[in-house]
Amino acid sequence: MKAAAKKYNTTYKKKIDIHRDTFLPRRSPKEIIQCSGCGAFYHRRHWTLVSPAGFNPPVHVHPVYCPACKKIKERCPSGEVDLLGVGAGDRGEVLRILRNEERRAREKNPLERIMRLAGAEGGWKVETTTEKLAQRLGRALCKARGGKVAYRWSHNNKFLRVLWRNEAAGERV
Ligand SMILES: [Zn+2]
Repeated sequence: MKAAAKKYNTTYKKKIDIHRDTFLPRRSPKEIIQCSGCGAFYHRRHWTLVSPAGFNPPVHVHPVYCPACKKIKERCPSGEVDLLGVGAGDRGEVLRILRNEERRAREKNPLERIMRLAGAEGGWKVETTTEKLAQRLGRALCKARGGKVAYRWSHNNKFLRVLWRNEAAGERV
């Protein structure tokens, strides 16, 4: 247990220095920006998936990206969920829970996205654009499937690693 905790505190040191505000484009508050990647709109200091009234698609000289698309391009996640003990038979259901939760989070805040989903040692690793979404995914898995969830913030609270352990896996993991 001690060894594991140490590992989690050191892995992401390089990435956590990037503050999310540095991703926000500096424009006049009245201007509407559309992300060239995901199509989200920035209007009145908020990102939304709904086209604001009076929006005319601008002719972009340079592509503009929202903070989520920038993080995805730069492989710079703010959260991570490690799933342990997910058997082959559970994969479809677990994936459905994750995607469903992401879709609901994104409707409220388009910047909350799953950026990567990969097989890892003994389970899966899910990377998210916000720490909030990682937390939300952990909570959703626990609610739907039981099991145990643990949250580990980095020392400056800008990166969250969530560990979820499938209950059915018992002591094997
Ligand atoms: Zn985007």
